[in-house]
Amino acid sequence: MKTMLVTGGAGFIGSHLCGKLLELGHKVICLDNFFTGSKKNIQPFSANKNFSLVEHDIIKPYFTQEKIDQIYNLACPASPLHYQFDAIQTVKANTIGVINILGLAKKHQARILQASTSEIYGDPQAHPQTESYWGNVNCIGTRSCYDEGKRCAETLFFDYQRQNLVDIKVVRIFNTYGPNMAVNDGRVVSNFIVQALKGIDITINGDGRQTRSFCYVDDLVEGLLAMMAKEKFSGPVNLGNAGEFTIAELAEMIIKLTDSQSRTIYNKLPADDPVKRKPDLALAKEKLGWQPKIELAEGLKKTIAYFKKII
Ligand code: NAD
Ligand code: UDP
Repeated sequence: MKTMLVTGGAGFIGSHLCGKLLELGHKVICLDNFFTGSKKNIQPFSANKNFSLVEHDIIKPYFTQEKIDQIYNLACPASPLHYQFDAIQTVKANTIGVINILGLAKKHQARILQASTSEIYGDPQAHPQTESYWGNVNCIGTRSCYDEGKRCAETLFFDYQRQNLVDIKVVRIFNTYGPNMAVNDGRVVSNFIVQALKGIDITINGDGRQTRSFCYVDDLVEGLLAMMAKEKFSGPVNLGNAGEFTIAELAEMIIKLTDSQSRTIYNKLPADDPVKRKPDLALAKEKLGWQPKIELAEGLKKTIAYFKKII
């Protein structure tokens, strides 16, 4: 039994991770400021004596007497809508916040994993994206608070490893979806499902020909655990699903699976919206023996069932 700190533990991915860690018999401290997370996501764990909640913002230092063995740093809004709402706060979470959590890891000699992102590749000129690709990122745009913030967070992780010998792990997560996404999250899968279930227009940005690769959250959590358990490998490593779909195809699938009468409408493409994105997963397979198992249609069905219950 280990003591795990999950920052951002009340969010979408964090809540699944907390649940899995508890299932494995660990003690879990969930730290969250509830900017995008929700108490509902962690309510199922409230009766578990191994679970505790700390309401805290990682931008402020966090101290605890309890010995922490491992830290998963997920504290950062992930949806463009939310990370752009207060861009400066997003940069702070990925710089000052990350320094605070790395400092905590150093003090506790804890292994620490950073939830980085495919966004660090920007609008990629290499396809699919391998970990050796340095990216094509605008440093002054509306997505930069997140993209550049996460790039700086990776820099900090590797500097803390070089300078302070902190035991780090960096994973680059590609678009992940599933139950516990907020209804107002704003990302494409939850938006389209909610719109389809309500029978309102499905809002495709641009011409819908931009692509993404969608990973079901259970697969992702397995990847996070595999990376945390791996010795002598810090990453960065891509985690995601290599199936590549246009946004228009995704809309079509969701309309079909929900048997919806919704129409699709086309809005302006947001600035710096990447044209294509698909992970090269060879390194994850080689180093972690990990690959995703859940096909998009199967994952969408589970996610639709969740949203049907809550809206
Ligand atoms: P989410 O918005 O549902 O969860 C983020 C959680 O962090 C929320 O509970 C939020 O309240 C909390 N949080 C935000 N800022 C904080 C702060 N300063 N201090 C404490 N808590 C804070 O998003 P998610 O999809 O669960 O993403 C989790 C992590 O994974 C994020 O770091 C995100 O960048 C990364 N990631 C997610 C995806 C994805 O597709 N879901 C892709 C790439 C990377
Ligand atoms: N998108 C869309 N309609 C929406 C929300 C998103 O067409 O209601 C598009 C968005 O412009 C992008 C893709 O879907 O091209 C994925 O967007 P998301 O916000 O889910 O993630 P990211 O852009 O960070 O990959």
